Amino acid sequence: MARNKAREERIKAVVAALLAEEAEEESGRPETIDDIENEMVALGDLLAREFAAQKLARHTSRSDASPKCPQCGGTGVLVGRRSRELITRRGPVPLSEAKYRCPRCRRHFFPSDGSVGD
Ligand SMILES: [Zn+2]
Repeated sequence: MARNKAREERIKAVVAALLAEEAEEESGRPETIDDIENEMVALGDLLAREFAAQKLARHTSRSDASPKCPQCGGTGVLVGRRSRELITRRGPVPLSEAKYRCPRCRRHFFPSDGSVGD
């Protein structure tokens, strides 16, 4: 798949740039395979969390002009945003969601709840 190949090339370039920066700050201690593996895991987690944060931000920034109240079906009024952390297998990921109020029921609701999980 062309997209995967392009992605792989970009990741190779990012890793090469990171390693070039690290070479300038060598600690002097010999690096072990455990050190390398620990960095692999940490870097993978960091990349995965950033990927999720940006994907979720894209997802939750799409504004529904007239979100429906889950209780009565009335149109909600935007009253602000709620920030929280979504716990993932790769660690916590920041999430900001639009918060609406139903004038009829006087309850708050988050249209993104069904799509990003609780
Ligand atoms: Zn309602």
